[in-house]
Amino acid sequence: MIEMKEVYKKYSNGVVAANGLNVKIDKGEFVYVVGPSGAGKSTFIKMMYREEKPTSGEILINGTSLPKLKNRKVPLLRRQIGVVFQDFKLLPRLSVYENVAFALEVIEEPTENIRPRVTEVLELVGLKHKARMLPTELSGGEQQRVSIARSIVNRPQVVIADEPTGNLDPETSMGIMNVLEQINEMGTTIVMATHNKDIVNRNRHRVIAIEGGLIVRDELEGGYGYEI
Ligand code: ADP
Ligand code: ADP
Repeated sequence: MIEMKEVYKKYSNGVVAANGLNVKIDKGEFVYVVGPSGAGKSTFIKMMYREEKPTSGEILINGTSLPKLKNRKVPLLRRQIGVVFQDFKLLPRLSVYENVAFALEVIEEPTENIRPRVTEVLELVGLKHKARMLPTELSGGEQQRVSIARSIVNRPQVVIADEPTGNLDPETSMGIMNVLEQINEMGTTIVMATHNKDIVNRNRHRVIAIEGGLIVRDELEGGYGYEI
């Protein structure tokens, strides 16, 4: 469902962040993306939701070519892909409920679907009782749960997470992982960049290691493989 062929990315400052990436990720997989800082993990992930375009090469999501996708079609792509960030990126003046509902409003989901869908995902992440609160009234772990709820409320086939536990303590991180595992068990593909060695070694999944813009290791049920 996600395929990269000879993907090359050179930023305007001359840095080559992807130097010939070839990879296939099937529906329902859970994939960790690991590697040292500056290796190209974020670039790899950002190209999957078209936050960055490759300089050359092909990226297919369910057969749609991202490099060729017209800008006006990007919102359609974003319906198929949910994104979760390290810093949550919640809208600070909106309540928990409104933050999640917003993701449906922007894709013009029929109004009558919004309340049941938002309620359902808030229940899934365990935050239905905090629907009226503002993000600043929540802990980091709770804010990340809201962000996950927002990412899945469109029922995307893929959730892409860039260091989702990067700002969280170990216990809270495990809670977030449990939510992502649950979403994966429901059939959603998960691609997650992480530096969290404990998580990668404990919840075993496919590991793609990137160094210098290249995939240097790709193992099913792999370990973290770096000492930090
Ligand atoms: P990682 O996520 O593994 O830390 P990145 O994909 O963020 O790696 O970065 C890979 C390389 O590309 C680094 O050398 C980084 O400095 C560079 N880079 C990332 N984003 C940009 C950008 N917008 N402009 C220029 N260089 C960038
Ligand atoms: P912007 O123009 O500021 O990027 P968007 O309308 O693209 O605003 O996004 C609004 C909010 O939703 C932002 O906080 C953004 O980070 C988040 N967002 C955008 N696309 C997605 C997605 N596919 N999944 C989850 N959150 C998203």
